[in-house]
Amino acid sequence: MPEQAFDLISVGGGSGGLACAQRAAEHGAKAAVIESQRLGGTCVNVGCVPKKVMWNASGIARSIADAADYGFDVASGGGDWAVLKGKRDALVLRLNGIYERNLANKGVAYVRGRGRFLDAHTLEVDGRRLKAPHIVIATGGKPSLPAVPGAQLGITSDGFFDLERRPQRVAVVGSGYVACELAGAFHELGSEVQLFVRRDRVLTHFDAMLGKSLMREMCALQMVIHEHFVPVAVRAGTAGKSLLAEDGRQFDGFDCVLWAVGRAANVDGLDLDRAGISPDRHGFVAADGFQNTAVAGIYAIGDVTGRAPLTPVAIAAGRRLADRLFGGRPDRRLDYDLIPTVVFTHPPIGTVGLSEAAARAAHGDAVKIYETGFVGLYNALTGRKPRTDMKLVCAGPDEKILGCHIIGAGADEMLQGFAVAIRMGATKRDFDDTVAIHPTSAEELVTMR
Ligand SMILES: Cc1cc2nc3c(=O)[nH]c(=O)nc-3n(C[C@H](O)[C@H](O)[C@H](O)COP(=O)(O)OP(=O)(O)OC[C@H]3O[C@@H](n4cnc5c(N)ncnc54)[C@H](O)[C@@H]3O)c2cc1C
Repeated sequence: MPEQAFDLISVGGGSGGLACAQRAAEHGAKAAVIESQRLGGTCVNVGCVPKKVMWNASGIARSIADAADYGFDVASGGGDWAVLKGKRDALVLRLNGIYERNLANKGVAYVRGRGRFLDAHTLEVDGRRLKAPHIVIATGGKPSLPAVPGAQLGITSDGFFDLERRPQRVAVVGSGYVACELAGAFHELGSEVQLFVRRDRVLTHFDAMLGKSLMREMCALQMVIHEHFVPVAVRAGTAGKSLLAEDGRQFDGFDCVLWAVGRAANVDGLDLDRAGISPDRHGFVAADGFQNTAVAGIYAIGDVTGRAPLTPVAIAAGRRLADRLFGGRPDRRLDYDLIPTVVFTHPPIGTVGLSEAAARAAHGDAVKIYETGFVGLYNALTGRKPRTDMKLVCAGPDEKILGCHIIGAGADEMLQGFAVAIRMGATKRDFDDTVAIHPTSAEELVTMR
């Protein structure tokens, strides 16, 4: 069997694996990336990028709908899903090419195929043996299907991006950010959407205000939300697909059932046991604060660890790991606190830091909450009146800001700068002392009383 030796091998050419191998190469290491599908991983191919294109398209649809309120005579001809998909696919293909060229430019070997461990320092890819003292497991995640009869009649987020035509009647099952985002995209682009959630609210991992406000806005947009829904089966009939619940409820006539019920680690066929690694009880590959697994010389980054599954997190963990191994920075590691994130719903959500509940659990009565809610100036002229809600979670005598939660137009672009300030230890007083930018929604964050 032909054999090649490297300093570092990333198994998985997604956000984390690419970032780690490229940074290692910048430090002079001989690095390789093994990728079995398309370079760029989930984010580029079936995640952030195509999802954001759909969110942008939804925004255009919404602006067209609002145009008359601003005095424009705009015909609202329905969007052409197939044209949009064609352009979106072309963008993704371009990005795949750019990622491949970047690897070549940085001198990183690109090994096409599925990698599996032979031992802790050896991988096998299509009959080739690759060895390295440092191996990074960056194989990401995959969407889960529920274990109910007929589950395969539905699609997952991966299937969403394959849809050639827009389905008219859609059931989205799930309450996390993927469910909310894809339900919103379908709805804004013209589908009739029903969202089926297991409990009484969406986005249960975030501050409660966000899920509550999002459900209010979804309902205002005429999306139907079914609460306390535990699916037990999907059936296909002549009039479409039916979704059945544990409590006997049944909903019929769907063209599309989309499962967004969580993601699992992508470790199939990796033969982790040969490297001496056992996945945790949820199937993820556990890593410590320095991305070390239980086996020396093997690291795990990104979604496969089950921790903060976001592209910039995978990238940051990968780059810092390479800095630590090859850049002479032995203490370099990713701090997983205060990671800001955006949910691309309608309206969008920006959130960083502790929820009110988490802050109260940690700091009790020392917590002080500042909240505001309003209709933004843009909607002063429109018939629809979506609200913006904001919350600052503070604690201690100096009211240090521990969390900032925003739902409303512009939240997606608003949060990044505030996240820097909060990471630097900003207090409520710092926010108060900052002169507002008027007229914006963001100014409310520095004028809350
Ligand atoms: C619908 C959706 C929307 C999202 N939106 C956002 C967003 O807006 N913002 C954000 O920050 N994050 C978003 N995410 C999450 C983001 O995509 C992931 O956090 C990120 O891609 C994780 O990067 P990764 O490197 O860990 O894994 P991945 O990007 O999944 O890459 C893993 C790669 O490993 C390859 N692989 C797996 N096994 C093997 C093997 N044995 N051999 C070789 N290759 C293998 C896979 O083919 C894949 O390409 C979204 C995810 C989804 C599903």
